[in-house]
Amino acid sequence: MSTLNEKTLDSVLLALAQGKIQIHDLTAPLSESTPTLVLPDPFANLIDFSIEEVSAYNEPGPYWKHHNIHTGEHIGTHIDAPVHWVSGKEGKDVSQIEPQRLIGPAVVLDFSAEAAADPDFLVDVEHLVSWQEQNGSFPSNAWLLFRTGWEQYDQDEKAFLNLDDTGSHTPGFTVECAKYIADELDISGIGVETVGIDAGNAGALDPAFPMHYFLLGADKYGITSLKNLDKLPTTGSMLIVAPLPIIGGTGAPTRVFALV
Ligand code: MN
Repeated sequence: MSTLNEKTLDSVLLALAQGKIQIHDLTAPLSESTPTLVLPDPFANLIDFSIEEVSAYNEPGPYWKHHNIHTGEHIGTHIDAPVHWVSGKEGKDVSQIEPQRLIGPAVVLDFSAEAAADPDFLVDVEHLVSWQEQNGSFPSNAWLLFRTGWEQYDQDEKAFLNLDDTGSHTPGFTVECAKYIADELDISGIGVETVGIDAGNAGALDPAFPMHYFLLGADKYGITSLKNLDKLPTTGSMLIVAPLPIIGGTGAPTRVFALV
């Protein structure tokens, strides 16, 4: 970006109008069949998303249709706010995350080959260090988006969660990597294609669910169940993250757009 002046936004708007900026929707469609996290016993699970008809141009509302929606906070494409985790319990709820942190540069890191070879693949510090050696430092306020190819399963809960009698097998991060992202990087947060920001079997790590523990404890945020990351360049796109500002909310279904 060479100059920044009062015309900058005009240039963006003109480019949008002329179709020179593409907008990719990274949000998974939300329905009763949207795959959701399943916690093992004895932990309590959230309800799935559902929609309830109240009227549909009929006696309860002759000129209109409207619904109640029922949903857990952490359903479908959603954001985790700091208060979601015990390490961030004094931190922000989802309504308190500043918009400046929700709009920023996107960086796409592709681990789809590794995750295809090993569904329990964990991103480690060395992957991020070598990425930066090749591509430069992550930009300030960035969102790191991790491609694993998992979006291909987003309408197939069985494959998406990949459960067997040894737990859920989906890719994630090592303890050291979670700590590195939380403590060493000047970013806003991370995004993943899987159902949660930790690996399926991250309950067995120490601390359990390290990305939740370190990231949310460091006032950084996590987004899950992203799609269309393959349509983004490695760097140079802009992410717009728009959660519902639920007061006291630990997370919320979130619309996520990327401007390319
Ligand atoms: Mn969540």
